[in-house]
Amino acid sequence: MGNPGLSDRGLGMDVNTKCPICESTESKLVFEYHKPPPEESQFSLKNGEKYFRQVFQCGACGHYRSVHEMKIDQLYKKSYHEANYGMNGLHKAFKRIQALPPESSDNFYRTKRVCEFTSAKAFKQKTLLDVGSNLGVFPYAMKKNGWTCEVVDPSPQVVKHASKTLGIPATQGDFLKVPLKGPYSLVTFNKVLEHVSNPTAMLSRSSELVAQEGIVYVEVPDGESASQEGKNREEFTLDHSHVFSFESLKRMSQNAGFQILSMERLQEPSSKYTLLAFLSLTESING
Ligand SMILES: [Zn+2]
Repeated sequence: MGNPGLSDRGLGMDVNTKCPICESTESKLVFEYHKPPPEESQFSLKNGEKYFRQVFQCGACGHYRSVHEMKIDQLYKKSYHEANYGMNGLHKAFKRIQALPPESSDNFYRTKRVCEFTSAKAFKQKTLLDVGSNLGVFPYAMKKNGWTCEVVDPSPQVVKHASKTLGIPATQGDFLKVPLKGPYSLVTFNKVLEHVSNPTAMLSRSSELVAQEGIVYVEVPDGESASQEGKNREEFTLDHSHVFSFESLKRMSQNAGFQILSMERLQEPSSKYTLLAFLSLTESING
């Protein structure tokens, strides 16, 4: 996903007034932050810069967008992984997640869900592209379930971790631009689209890479459930430019050219509120 292009969210953009999913201009301010919420990683601000951001909700589709002018352009190239894991912390964090008992692991249930759903397709070749792989726990688990996995991520550290430590072929770069082979029987976005400036464009790109009978799997934070518990929920931290509603995930998927095979909301073992969708270019699960 490269530099997710947060720089275009500065002055002059209509992001303050227009919903990035359905383009409605009807919106209301739901949360305002003058300091980082307790659960947020401490991203570095420029000297003298004040922390200030607002979350607006679209009156038409319920989508939440975070609006601010803080300079965090380099978030995903460098500081994000330093802020969250330290320079060499990816492997350590990977091992920590791997050591979780299944009932405490979001990834255990994610893997189970995706394997069960895709088993109905009986793919001849089980090829997976995981977009924005981060720690790599998901493609690593899918590899153990017989999938041939690849990842793409803007971070050199993530790519090095995937290829060197996990033995998963990895491409470094901006998902919107980097050449990838395909077609893949499965393309996955696990907690990725909330971080980018244009999630519909990201999802659209996967329609060129997924096989005609393939599946795209999406997980995003569920703003409707999380907002019931107030503004300090982790779903609304600074690194999430978008927080979804059931309707906004549905509309984005359709706008990106997909049919919705299944959608649901759930609370994960980590306590995260999540919306998930299985998408396809064709309507029928049997292709
Ligand atoms: Zn909207």
